[in-house]
Amino acid sequence: MERATVIVAIDGPSGTGKSSTSKAVAAQLGLSYLDTGAQYRAITWWMVNNGIDIEDPSAIAAVAGKPEIVSGTDPTGPTITVDGTDVAGPIRTQEVTSQVSAVSAVPEVRARITELQRSIASDAENGIVVEGRDIGTTVLPDADLKIFLTASPEARAARRSGELKGADVQSTREALLKRDAADSSRKTSPLAKADDAVEVDTSELTLQQVIECVVTLVEEKRAGK
Ligand code: C5P
Repeated sequence: MERATVIVAIDGPSGTGKSSTSKAVAAQLGLSYLDTGAQYRAITWWMVNNGIDIEDPSAIAAVAGKPEIVSGTDPTGPTITVDGTDVAGPIRTQEVTSQVSAVSAVPEVRARITELQRSIASDAENGIVVEGRDIGTTVLPDADLKIFLTASPEARAARRSGELKGADVQSTREALLKRDAADSSRKTSPLAKADDAVEVDTSELTLQQVIECVVTLVEEKRAGK
């Protein structure tokens, strides 16, 4: 029987096509979309802006509850604000990117953001595609469908340096691998594939092919296959 709502968790390291895929799949299927990386970037932006020592997890933990982070979940125009300020641009700077793994490793930060994510997912009337690192394992372990996207370091670095308008591929590769290593080795909800996730290696696939693959998997789930 066709199901009314569907919750899709899409996890994986950076540069595997998570965001582009998740947005397109959600738009195509009429679902909401949540970029959980943007939420971790937003809280990191707030910490940097407020002069919190990023090297000091207890200083981060003490203020983790302060900023109000609001995510708009329309896949054709997702938004992110902190205390009412639009931070969609500032959260993508090199400064935030290089500090986000340290902030997101703090358990109090994860508890706060995880609660927010669960409440957004449960409010999504038609269902939602949630992308991140720990969605299938920790945030939404009962998701209807879990996808884990992977790609070779070369493919990921090439994509990311393309997005960063021609940034050097070698240094992009190093920064990306460093961030993945930090995200995979932290104690609280590290980047990991859930046992029941479908793994899709995107190295040799076009974005369109990855989208079609995920849409088919969602439709099969909805049809109860
Ligand atoms: O996806 P994006 O590259 O924007 O994520 C930025 C960072 O946010 C990741 O490197 C990771 O440190 C953190 N993150 C996380 N858990 C998630 C999503 C992102 O720890 N579910």
